[in-house]
Amino acid sequence: MTICVLSAEIRNQIAAGEVVERPSSVVKEGIENALDAGAQSVEVYLVNGGKNLIKIVDDGSGMPPEDLPLAVLRHATSKLHRIEDLFHLQQYGFRGEALAAVSAVSDFTLISRTTTSTEAFKLKGKAGQFEKIKIIAANPGTTLVVENLFAPLPARLEYLKSDNAEYQACVKELYGFALANPNVSFQLYNQEKLSLDYPATQLENRVKQVLKNHANTLCAVDFQLPHLSIKGFTSLPGNGLSHKNQQHILVNGRRIEDHRLAYAVREAYVQSAGIEKHLFPAFVLHLTIDPILVDVNVHPRKVEVKFAEPSEVFSSVKKTVITALETVSFSPRFSSLQISAKENFGASRYLGKPTPSSSRQISAGNIFNQRLSQNTLPSFAQRHQQFQTKPSTEEHTLNSNDSSTALTLIGQADNKYIVAQTQAGLYFFDQHALHERQRFETFWQAHLQAGLVKQPLLVPDKIQIPENEVSLLHDNRTVLEQIGFEIDFLADDQVVIHAVPDLLVGQDLKSLLEKCIVYFENESLGENVCNQIMRKLLEYKACRGAVMFGDALERAEMEKLIQDFDKTDWKLLCPHGRPNHHFMPFAELDKKFHR
Ligand code: ADP
Ligand code: MG
Repeated sequence: MTICVLSAEIRNQIAAGEVVERPSSVVKEGIENALDAGAQSVEVYLVNGGKNLIKIVDDGSGMPPEDLPLAVLRHATSKLHRIEDLFHLQQYGFRGEALAAVSAVSDFTLISRTTTSTEAFKLKGKAGQFEKIKIIAANPGTTLVVENLFAPLPARLEYLKSDNAEYQACVKELYGFALANPNVSFQLYNQEKLSLDYPATQLENRVKQVLKNHANTLCAVDFQLPHLSIKGFTSLPGNGLSHKNQQHILVNGRRIEDHRLAYAVREAYVQSAGIEKHLFPAFVLHLTIDPILVDVNVHPRKVEVKFAEPSEVFSSVKKTVITALETVSFSPRFSSLQISAKENFGASRYLGKPTPSSSRQISAGNIFNQRLSQNTLPSFAQRHQQFQTKPSTEEHTLNSNDSSTALTLIGQADNKYIVAQTQAGLYFFDQHALHERQRFETFWQAHLQAGLVKQPLLVPDKIQIPENEVSLLHDNRTVLEQIGFEIDFLADDQVVIHAVPDLLVGQDLKSLLEKCIVYFENESLGENVCNQIMRKLLEYKACRGAVMFGDALERAEMEKLIQDFDKTDWKLLCPHGRPNHHFMPFAELDKKFHR
């Protein structure tokens, strides 16, 4: 076989495979170029998910005619001149490959006019073969038109998904740029119809535009180190989605895919709110990191980055989301705050409802003080130091004995819901979720105070367990012992329990071990594993003993439940992350009756 050097055309087509995988790759590269050129407005047009047409129109700096042929040459870029520049990049592009790659595998048109020129110039090509540049009339800025993507490489067409799937992938790209550049306006036309319209705005509003279904159920995330800052918004527990499409991570303005960081966010939900495993929170996280600590040049399409200290970034993301969630979890008490008809619990930290006063902070401060006087734990103290150190000027708006905001029981509906009212509106409680939450909190407090205490059983208990599961218990026996289990392995499918954690005496041991097995199977055993497992086991205990959905309740029982509700830390959710109550302001009810 003779060796021959491939022609430029074939080389470009091969290289294109790395850069241009599907229509969304073209959208990404096109928008990057527009933003790099300083565009204030970017319009994207798609036909058939971008398979037939992708057009990107910007109002950026444009290119002079002599630059057009260079723009489509490989390794031709105006953005990077020395390798050191790679670590101080202010722009999205730097490899000079994108337009060469796109033009090699499509019917390609580039129209550009600089701000100082009166004429626009058009470069047209097919599969990397270009015609002569023509003068045409066009607005300042650049228009990239890519038709019949992969027509020169029909095999690649096979790998494309449905028009809708390709369209969604393009939308996801656009979301990332829109979130990273709120001051730029973006419009997306699908099959000639305007489908997304984001006028230039501030970050908070842009997040609302993009996460529109979550606009009123977001809480702010904020974390600051000298070399790393994390800012953004995350959906309140109870608003999780069945898909990950609304999870956006941006690093120094680039949208990236990072499963580990997305997992860190979910871990934060699991640890602070007990969200259900199969739901995905919506979030936007902007990480700003010293460029020297992150390498953006590790992926052909630059959708992944490499952090110098990945575990620091991971734990910072987790910590900051936990802090944000724990802060909103401390909602005001009926007895200590005027709840306005429009305001639901903890609304002041929700995006969309800018803090009307610092009343939530005062309220949380009150909770903190009460807990302190009840000998509460240092972890709570640490958690709420921030509230204590922020004295409020609006304290006079509170009246801790104001009975007008008290919760009054109305009764039970369908043996499932407890109905109550305040002056502001009606409350519907899921009686099981409510009781479960309260029980859990009591147990959790007891656990935090007492720590891990072992209780020997008078009569050891033999338990049959499938072989593969016994081995999981065996592998993790030190963790089990730390929690308070004393366990012997009798046979391949049998264990004997001699002692259990004190708080779990009297619970069904087989079920407890099953919970542990599920945990060992699915979770990574990071820091704090003992507390995490105890949490699962106490959730189980809380659920087992709680009033059932369907139990008829005495009035006194209901009174007690709603009184206790006022004292719970997490008013919004049951331990599994389901909402435990629904609030209907009278104002809303009035509206329904046209009052
Ligand atoms: P890179 O962005 O990595 O430099 P590209 O192949 O994407 O490589 O683009 C090559 C060059 O073409 C860019 O460096 C830039 O100078 C010019 N260019 C591309 N698109 C635009 C645009 N929309 N506006 C102005 N200049 C552009
Ligand atoms: Mg580029």
